[in-house]
Amino acid sequence: MKTPATTKQPPPDNPFPWRCRRCGKQEVVMATTQYEAEVRHDGRLHCFSVPRLEIPVCQSCGEKVFTVEVDAQVQDALREHLKLTEPESP
Ligand SMILES: [Zn+2]
Repeated sequence: MKTPATTKQPPPDNPFPWRCRRCGKQEVVMATTQYEAEVRHDGRLHCFSVPRLEIPVCQSCGEKVFTVEVDAQVQDALREHLKLTEPESP
């Protein structure tokens, strides 16, 4: 019995533009923007800005699409923010 030559592989990174889940238009493309983040951490709400957040944004309605990669950037920025605002412990 012959097995098909096609191997199962993930799609090549889901090429842009994506369809917007808010307005339904296929106009979501990657953008770099300043983002004012509010993240709860250790029971406190931290507000800080991410000067260059790479995030898919709908060109039609401005809807931001949060992906795992976006979340990772926000978490990185949060760590930087905590470093700056909290005294270093020995
Ligand atoms: Zn939209």
